[in-house]
Amino acid sequence: MKKIIVLMFLSLFFLFLFPIQGNAAANTSKIFLNGEQLSLPNDVQVTIVNKNVMIPIRVVAENLKFDVDWNQQARQVKIQQNEKVISLTVDQKQAMVADKQVTLNTAPQILNKTLVVPIRFVSEQMGLSVKWNNQEKIVYLTGSNNEPTEASGDDSGSDTTSLTHVTDIVFADNQLVVSMDGEQVQPVISTLKNPDRLVVDLPGTVFGDLAQPLDQGLNGKLDVTGYPNVSEVRYSLFKRDPGQVRIVVELNNVKDLQFDQNVIADKLLIDLNVSGDSVTPVPVTPGIDTGRKVVVIDPGHGGSDPGTISITNKPEKEYVLALGLKVQALLLNEPDIELVMTRDSDIYPTRSERVQLANELNADVFVSIHGNSATSSPQASGTETFYYQRSSSKDLANIIHERLVKALGFKDRRVKNGNLQVIRETTMPAVLLEIGFLSNAAEEKAMSSEEVQAKAAQAIVDGIKEYLGI
Ligand SMILES: [Zn+2]
Repeated sequence: MKKIIVLMFLSLFFLFLFPIQGNAAANTSKIFLNGEQLSLPNDVQVTIVNKNVMIPIRVVAENLKFDVDWNQQARQVKIQQNEKVISLTVDQKQAMVADKQVTLNTAPQILNKTLVVPIRFVSEQMGLSVKWNNQEKIVYLTGSNNEPTEASGDDSGSDTTSLTHVTDIVFADNQLVVSMDGEQVQPVISTLKNPDRLVVDLPGTVFGDLAQPLDQGLNGKLDVTGYPNVSEVRYSLFKRDPGQVRIVVELNNVKDLQFDQNVIADKLLIDLNVSGDSVTPVPVTPGIDTGRKVVVIDPGHGGSDPGTISITNKPEKEYVLALGLKVQALLLNEPDIELVMTRDSDIYPTRSERVQLANELNADVFVSIHGNSATSSPQASGTETFYYQRSSSKDLANIIHERLVKALGFKDRRVKNGNLQVIRETTMPAVLLEIGFLSNAAEEKAMSSEEVQAKAAQAIVDGIKEYLGI
């Protein structure tokens, strides 16, 4: 290898001798390395040039602890750690990584007498992952031993990555649903005693345009009346640097707390299995083998559990019962089908009881009926159908979904694999239908009409019959 003669300066003092060049917005940005804020010298500022976050070379040397050598004649800086070497030249976009030439978005430059370099490029080349919260002007660097780094060398100006936003927190049917906008987060869920509570931490999140109220200190509470085992659901911005939303579900009189967590699309779902809920027993028809197919129809929610609240303030439980009863009326006319409803009035069987009923009956199909909601985006619309893993469930989902979309003409949000208790724990082909969005004004109006409900009921029944070959 060729030896390069460099004029090395042990100190980077000389940099302050350079005249001021260019103009860039200086600000009071902060840098976090593996969750800890770096204490930057007073005279050091993070700057943004052409949307790229630039840091003084002193930060690279002193705070990130990379070796930095300066060649004044060549106006070149060499940054080194272990085997990795990067060479950058002032005012030049061409840089060298080992002996490969790469092109930067923004050239290193002298600003306020200080050499500044693009932090994303340097950090990623050194195996750190970089996140930039533009609103808060915070740079987050994470060591590669903590998580996989993003593809290096891709300095595509994406220095505007922000934290994931929490946009909706709903507690219904003993299920906590948190909607998020942005990169998927890894929730950390723990249970604590005295009082019994479930703590859900969402690292790397802040509140977005939250549908629920927030006070000045970024705290809020949900209404949990009607849930005797839940005394409070509160949420707060637990940490600011970096952001971390925390949701606490405080429980009441719970002997044994268990929970399931699932992530579906941009929603985190946590199902609480708490014993002691006020339960109306579901009548179980003895499993007489009549040769007929057993169909279980499950209108969601009911009783103390309203489900979501529609844009016109009506509970989901009313809509799904009205539709469920129409499905019931049609299926009762089918001589080859033995129909069992999980509820045909305003009562609340727990999800475990609904599952148990279908499993004990050894039912042939299980269809759960729901109305969707996205209060933070009232434009959201369409029909989506969930199955869980089993191909028999997927087949049933495809058949019913296609008929529903055709009959209603709502947007096709497709058939999805969803880890939901009633379709996961049932042992027969099982689907969960989200007919349409009760949070969407036009769709809710249609869904409330007798005519559209009749069409939906017919589509569901036709789908079940087709699947069963009747
Ligand atoms: Zn529902």
